[in-house]
Amino acid sequence: MSAISYRSTRGRAPQLEFGDVLLAGLATDGGLYVPDTVPTLDPSISAEDSYAQVATKVMWPFVAGSLDADDFEAIVEETYAGFSHPDIAPLFQLGAGEWLCDLSYGPTLAFKDFALQLLGRLLDYELTKRDQRVTVIGATSGDTGSAAIHALANRDRINVVILHPEGRVSEVQRRQMTTVTAPNVTNLAVQGTFDDCQDLVKEAFGDHDLRVSAGLAAVNSINWARVMAQTAYYVSAARRVLARTGLPADSPVSFSVPTGNFGNVLSAWYAKRMGLAVDQLIIASNRNDVLTRVMATGALTLAEVVASFSPSMDIQVSSNFERLLFEAGDRDAEAVTRLLASFRSEGHATVDPAWMARIRDEFVAGRLDDAGTLDEMRRVFREHQMLMDPHTAVGLQVGRAQRNNPDVPLIVMGTADPAKFGGAVTEATGQVPSLPDRVGDLMNMTERYEVIPAHLDAVRAHLPLQSGVDGND
Ligand SMILES: *Cc1c(COP(=O)(O)O)cnc(C)c1O
Repeated sequence: MSAISYRSTRGRAPQLEFGDVLLAGLATDGGLYVPDTVPTLDPSISAEDSYAQVATKVMWPFVAGSLDADDFEAIVEETYAGFSHPDIAPLFQLGAGEWLCDLSYGPTLAFKDFALQLLGRLLDYELTKRDQRVTVIGATSGDTGSAAIHALANRDRINVVILHPEGRVSEVQRRQMTTVTAPNVTNLAVQGTFDDCQDLVKEAFGDHDLRVSAGLAAVNSINWARVMAQTAYYVSAARRVLARTGLPADSPVSFSVPTGNFGNVLSAWYAKRMGLAVDQLIIASNRNDVLTRVMATGALTLAEVVASFSPSMDIQVSSNFERLLFEAGDRDAEAVTRLLASFRSEGHATVDPAWMARIRDEFVAGRLDDAGTLDEMRRVFREHQMLMDPHTAVGLQVGRAQRNNPDVPLIVMGTADPAKFGGAVTEATGQVPSLPDRVGDLMNMTERYEVIPAHLDAVRAHLPLQSGVDGND
């Protein structure tokens, strides 16, 4: 099979193959890598395949040329063997044609484990092949950080530096990061918002000397490998829901996805481009509703980030939306660059109406505020005796509100375990969700982190020097 190459959404970085894209994260021109061609789904994928089999078949065309097929299959097998539910991404029926695909059975209790557990292993493989080391730097609104730390701790070719917004992640989220005291892990609590953290990471990558001297690599959802890994559960969930419903395997389904950085729902769109039959793709936001505003007004507008009950979606600059803009604009990299530059400088930019028309053909969007989120969690507890995390509740309520065809199954992506956001769950239901045993005695373990101002110099001071990066092996 010939290898797929990847190009930047800004058009001024070299085209790369998968292994390079994996290590690069962000392109050198500030753009995001997208596959040059999108492969067609392997027709042998079926509802009887294990999760790892589906994932291997879905992802293989994207990585072919950079990995050996047997090695890749073994890496994917090992990745999902560490999940704590036999179905990996189990389905629960909530109502007529209404399904929950629960993605919270990884080691850090959120869907981010699906991509990051794989990414850690792929990085290790690639770095060993090249005899290199890297410093992975990432910004987190709470869940990416812990998922990255758990995927990368004690890997000796990798240092991990994770920036989280001080006081804006839940206590469980913070502890899942700061109690990992492996020598290759650094936690930085930034005095600012998630968007400040994300800007600092972009700034670090934009500083060529720093990028080279620290050997920076990114695991944020801007890394293509994450988008790729997530496409697999859309394919797997659709096949299994259709099989359980007795519908033909090529019937359409709809997905509702709680959205922040636009990574997860973008993966659903790639699954659709690969040939998965998808009716509606529903973007569900909390009151930080930048995407809902784009859909309604056709303009990118900046707004203050406000803290909500679903903190992993408290984002007003959804990085991965750039990938969609690039495709909606027929890959006009110059136009994408201009649009985002004017958004950066003016805080406002009008998207070409022709691009918006294509985007509105593919997606619908809705928002839910905190009061609505609590109501939905309460309803789910009353009707199903189920505790639901607040992000998933946003996805469920918005999905039900936007669903337009009762004959098409609606699959809501469950993005976290309720115990990760116990405060909101208790406020809604009066119940205290218990942490699964596999996370250990989190609330009594020692924490280690540094508080820093939102400035690149403060980040730089915590990055290992090149001598550290190239240290003895
Ligand atoms: C990261 C996260 C989201 C948002 O996902 P995006 O890919 O950023 O859109 C939603 N819910 C939870 C629990 C998350 O951790």
